[in-house]
Amino acid sequence: MKASAFAYARATSVGNALELLVAHGDGAKVLSGGQSLMPAMNLRLLAPEILVDIGDLAELRGIERKGDVLRIGALTRHVDLLKSVEIAAHAPLLTQAIAHVAHPAIRNKGTLGGSLAHADPASELPACVLALNATIIVRGPAGERRIAAEEFFTGIYETALSPQELLVAVEMPVAQQDSMHFFHEFARRHGDYAIVGIAAQAAVQGGVFRDLRIAFFAVGDRPMLAAAAARLINVAVTPQMLADASTALGEQLDPQEDQQASPAMRRHLAKVLLARCVSALLGRPDLAGISA
Ligand SMILES: Cc1cc2nc3c(=O)[nH]c(=O)nc-3n(C[C@H](O)[C@H](O)[C@H](O)COP(=O)(O)OP(=O)(O)OC[C@H]3O[C@@H](n4cnc5c(N)ncnc54)[C@H](O)[C@@H]3O)c2cc1C
Repeated sequence: MKASAFAYARATSVGNALELLVAHGDGAKVLSGGQSLMPAMNLRLLAPEILVDIGDLAELRGIERKGDVLRIGALTRHVDLLKSVEIAAHAPLLTQAIAHVAHPAIRNKGTLGGSLAHADPASELPACVLALNATIIVRGPAGERRIAAEEFFTGIYETALSPQELLVAVEMPVAQQDSMHFFHEFARRHGDYAIVGIAAQAAVQGGVFRDLRIAFFAVGDRPMLAAAAARLINVAVTPQMLADASTALGEQLDPQEDQQASPAMRRHLAKVLLARCVSALLGRPDLAGISA
């Protein structure tokens, strides 16, 4: 199938892109790498009147470290993140996760901003920005807004972005010396969307979590932080504590049924991933099989 007819404008600056978005309202769609937007248009799930192509806006591209903050431009492609030494050094969770996003052809075009704005609940990167405690920076006619990743994802393919706003960058704290991360997803084939996945960032000192953020994806209508992680911070984790955290996780999740898995299977896989994550981060093989 082919997309419905649409107009096309190539933005010459962020200001120009915002003018176009304001002028066309709900009829406009931002085009970044096109790896989600174009398939949706070709399937006629979306029929925007005009595409505002931001692909020429070099100011939205790039990775920069300033002190303890890592800033990634929205137009930075998956392949650039995957190959970046800055990302490998300061946000290695992203390096590991991006290898699981689709395939090289898609990673060569797809962008971080596009992935976050698209907000597929089965996507890897939205969960990573939750785990990394990132801030999403958006610009609109009223100026700039900084939105905590936890507030950004509001439902299936829904975010806190208004149609007149552009996602311009993502900022996150750089990984510290005691930082550790864990990423895993269950997928039928490498590169497929996950059946269930986990992305976690932790600070570990002397075998104890000083901080722990565990995000799950493909377990509900949006990526979500496991509230139960808080129970495992600043304590010597016992198998019983982990089993209790596993029970709490099962109660928090509200997985959906689709052709890949039932809600019960997703809940079970999430609990398996929680145990493997905690076990790996603490270097405690005795915890690997603990789930409620
Ligand atoms: C075969 C296939 C397999 C895939 N597998 C995976 C996978 O395993 N995991 C995964 O996460 N993704 C997967 N994807 C999707 C893809 O990797 C990302 O969703 C995609 O890269 C999004 O980035 P983009 O730059 O291409 O966004 P686009 O397709 O250009 O845009 C996506 C949406 O975001 C909006 N948007 C884009 N940029 C901005 C911005 N800066 N500000 C505001 N709104 C914006 C657009 O208007 C559109 O609604 C797959 C895609 C295909 C085709």
